Amino acid sequence: MANKVPITVAHGDGIGPEIMDASLRIITAAGADVEFETIEIGEKAYLAGHNSGIAPSAWASLRRTHVFFKAPITTPQGGGYKSLNVTARKTLGLYANVRPCVSYHPFVATKHPKMDLVIVRENEEDLYAGIEHRQTDEVYQCLKLISRPGSEKIIRYAFEYARANGRKKVTAFTKDNIMKMTDGLFHKIFDEIAADYPDLVNEHWIVDIGSAKMADTPEDFDVIVLPNLYGDVLSDVAAQIAGSVGLAGSANIGEGAAMFEAIHGSAPRRAGQNLANPSGLLLGGVMMLVHIGQPEVAERVHNAWLRTLEEGIHTYDVYRRGVETGVSKQEVGTREFADAVIARLGQNPETLPAVTYAAGNGIPLAKYVQAPPAKRELVGVDIFLFNRDKNPNTLGDAVTQVGVSEGMQLTMVSNRGLKVYPNGSPETFCTDHWRCRFFAKERGTPIQPTQIISLLNRMQAAGFDFIKTENLYYFDGESAFSGGQGE
Ligand code: NAD
Repeated sequence: MANKVPITVAHGDGIGPEIMDASLRIITAAGADVEFETIEIGEKAYLAGHNSGIAPSAWASLRRTHVFFKAPITTPQGGGYKSLNVTARKTLGLYANVRPCVSYHPFVATKHPKMDLVIVRENEEDLYAGIEHRQTDEVYQCLKLISRPGSEKIIRYAFEYARANGRKKVTAFTKDNIMKMTDGLFHKIFDEIAADYPDLVNEHWIVDIGSAKMADTPEDFDVIVLPNLYGDVLSDVAAQIAGSVGLAGSANIGEGAAMFEAIHGSAPRRAGQNLANPSGLLLGGVMMLVHIGQPEVAERVHNAWLRTLEEGIHTYDVYRRGVETGVSKQEVGTREFADAVIARLGQNPETLPAVTYAAGNGIPLAKYVQAPPAKRELVGVDIFLFNRDKNPNTLGDAVTQVGVSEGMQLTMVSNRGLKVYPNGSPETFCTDHWRCRFFAKERGTPIQPTQIISLLNRMQAAGFDFIKTENLYYFDGESAFSGGQGE
């Protein structure tokens, strides 16, 4: 056929080659209009000296096809190896991780028979930006970066995904009662974007109680959009409680490329025995078919797969022995399972709901439009000190003197975010990491960057060991920094 869609395929390690062969056979038999280009990733690439698990030449294929169907790989034991997933995500700009978590009751054991939700996880930023420092003997930090473009893109994607897939509700989880600025931004953008989708219900939960609710009554959720860390944790929880970690597929979507895979690993102990369940990878492949604009093929594959599951044709991980369930009828290997799905192409499930995918070429990804700059004023500085002497009053009194000489005023010293000077509480435990907050003598009036530099010079001269500074700004007249607890 003239316009076959090229797809880069990696067979991976462990059970990877078997489940990839099974998946490709099913997809091809279902009539997918695709052609596969194979690249080498994983153990062989790592051991050949490519620390990211992929040879540089393999990128040429990915840059040409922009679609990556990837089997799991084995990361060799020992240090120095980088996660291929992280590399692929960052290099290809795959900002949205989409993971449907569905239960297949009564055919797969689960405590949540009605669960059918989709986790949409931000993939590029948050605490996973990987910016970490050790600052003192006792304290390490990891920077949590939440950006407007990152949040807008993922949240809009979640709403577009919901619309394209006939979903009714989008929920955001954040911890904006504590992280009012970073998670607060994510929540605010969620509310802004939700207004563009009046046809969809939207709601926000604080992540702790939201997670508890999701683990208890997952059927109350539909699409959940989350910043990176919460999404990482909760997508595993959701897949696990659906009863089907081995059955879940996942998509990683970016503006220029997309990657599809199973959520499980390479299960080396099961490799080469025709035992592994190809379902997770196959469902990743179903998402890929929708993405490349072949929803009718995706539907054929998905429904034949559901029918196979329903008829009790199960690989060892799903097969249940004993009379009490009665749902498993035949225990099969990887190849036979694929044959059974192929034999059912064109059939729909009878008990489980059949799947339909809308026509149309994937989900529209909105381009980020940069907003005009805000009016920014420098009004103060937080200077962080390393000080092993743990008396906040001695430290605070001494730092106050330095500030005064520079036309600045020390307003507080905090330790791990809690104000300890002036008027701290004697019970507070302090580490060796102190934040000294300075404003202009007349609070709220702008200061010059040179004032900060001379303040630092004076601090240095007075024997203080500063480890970093953080400028304090007003953006459009509003303070753009959090207060200390108790400030
Ligand atoms: P795993 O997911 O490979 O296996 C966990 C358990 O689930 C094992 O008992 C395994 O036998 C079973 N299992 C997993 N997939 C199965 C399937 N399709 N059919 C039947 N049973 C299945 O996790 P692990 O053992 O922690 O990791 C093994 C290797 O996989 C490690 O090298 C790890 O780094 C790698 N890994 C890769 C990816 C990826 O490539 N995306 C993801 C996770 C782990």
